Amino acid sequence: MIRMKTDPESIAQFTTDESGIVHASAVEAVCFPQSEQEVSELLAEANETGTLVTTSGAGTGLCGGRVAVHGGIVIATQDLCTPQRRELPVFQAERFGRQYSIYVDEDCQEAYVPAGVSTELLDQMLPGGLVYPPDPTEKSSFIGANIACNASGARTFHYGPSRAWVLGLQVVLPTGDILDVSRGDCSANGELRFASQSGAEYVVPLPSYQMPATKNAAGLYAHAGMDLVDLFIGSEGILGVITMARLKLSTRPDNIIGEVAFFASEADALNFVNDLRAAAAGAMTVLSIEYFDSNSLDFMEHEVLAGKDYVAAVYTEVVGTLDELDPLIAALEANNYAADWFAEGPEQALEQKEFRHSLPDEVHSYLRRHNSQAWVTDFAVPPEKFPDMLAAYHAAGAALREKFPREGKHYLVFGHIGDYHLHVEFITHSEEELRFAKQLYADLAKQAIAWGGTISGEHGVGKKMITVDGRTIPYLELMYGKQGVMEIARTKQALDPNLVLNVGNMVPRSYLEQLSK
Ligand SMILES: Cc1cc2nc3c(=O)[nH]c(=O)nc-3n(C[C@H](O)[C@H](O)[C@H](O)COP(=O)(O)OP(=O)(O)OC[C@H]3O[C@@H](n4cnc5c(N)ncnc54)[C@H](O)[C@@H]3O)c2cc1C
Repeated sequence: MIRMKTDPESIAQFTTDESGIVHASAVEAVCFPQSEQEVSELLAEANETGTLVTTSGAGTGLCGGRVAVHGGIVIATQDLCTPQRRELPVFQAERFGRQYSIYVDEDCQEAYVPAGVSTELLDQMLPGGLVYPPDPTEKSSFIGANIACNASGARTFHYGPSRAWVLGLQVVLPTGDILDVSRGDCSANGELRFASQSGAEYVVPLPSYQMPATKNAAGLYAHAGMDLVDLFIGSEGILGVITMARLKLSTRPDNIIGEVAFFASEADALNFVNDLRAAAAGAMTVLSIEYFDSNSLDFMEHEVLAGKDYVAAVYTEVVGTLDELDPLIAALEANNYAADWFAEGPEQALEQKEFRHSLPDEVHSYLRRHNSQAWVTDFAVPPEKFPDMLAAYHAAGAALREKFPREGKHYLVFGHIGDYHLHVEFITHSEEELRFAKQLYADLAKQAIAWGGTISGEHGVGKKMITVDGRTIPYLELMYGKQGVMEIARTKQALDPNLVLNVGNMVPRSYLEQLSK
């Protein structure tokens, strides 16, 4: 019997995600499959009966992806914590009353990881010396979901996003068929043709749109000659439930040095970032380059900020010994740094990470205290457009402040500057302010696209809609047009003929209903 819960309290835990932008209604049950076979049984039955199914990870998503807005059942992936047995050393952990297992090939630097393992737990379970490099900030998120969203993190600057670290996947398709696919097994020739474990054959058309060259998590991956594995990475769960991933690992750098540099001007901070990028292109290994504007620093808590009024800070992690830090020191000195905080060794590095992570925590508690709402961008743009985009962010924040003068913050700018991917968080204290912030957001999104960028560098689009010129459209339509969204719908239909899985992500239900059978 597949474990499931139908009581309102249990269901209530799955009715939204961290974004709170949408809420589920009429969820019949939350199911907790313990194995891939159980996921397969659930999907086969749903496909047969036309029951809608939505897949949930840890619920930290920021676009309503796991939210069953059209009802049906939820598949919770938290009990997918043991993969099929392999002839490899097993590493185990017990958490929350569950026994987790991963299989690791230390020589090949590969791990077989079930979907329900969080990134934090994976890091603890891996044998010493090995690391799974993608490091999204939210460590409670699950590996299956990270892959479904092509999650990124600060170290994406050096290591790339999740996509770069997935060697193979086990996926239960919406029909209940099981697919076990490794990179190299199947690549596109106009379309993707492959067979599932049961021998069922699939012919999958691909969207024809051009993806931006920037970091990107918006829309299904589509490239000439692409690998089938890539189709599922970043698919936001609309094509199947990932049950297990074969992940590439890396050697854990044992001499990471963290540095937070503070500046009295934004221009100095940006020049420092450029110098760091140049150093990274040379001999220095730079793992991450993160940015915090003065409004962000006002939220953050640490004695290093006490009584100071810095305009910007840049957090970077470099690999090396003290003797190898010349390029970093030169970059600091060339750009008039006002102060710096240098962390060598794991304890100080942890303190810096906590400092960095204090930002979302402090913003959330501010929002709760003021009963206010935030609206966050996730745009990335090509390098040459980055200065203009940053100026546009400040102009938008100033416009919100001028239109609604009041105490408190109106916006902050922070994030992955190394990848030209900053988040602007608009803070609004009323419905009117929120409406205006959404308008500013839409204008910025259009601008990012016009400059060859993306509307989502890492969060995905989920069930986001956007209002432009008085019309509310699916968020993705802004970037790929209705044609692109309908092409995604057709890709989905080839794998999900009865359109039961994760309905509403990327493509709204009303668009799916426009597909011919
Ligand atoms: C404070 C904070 C910081 C964050 N920082 C980052 C960051 O640095 N980088 C980043 O990329 N994201 C970040 N996020 C967003 C979020 O953590 C990621 O999108 C993460 O990948 C979601 O994982 P989850 O387990 O919470 O998934 P959920 O929110 O439960 O689901 C996310 C999506 O994945 C689908 N899904 C879940 N499991 C599966 C599966 N096994 N198979 C197929 N589809 C599945 C769901 O249907 C949904 O569409 C942040 C969020 C918060 C709250």
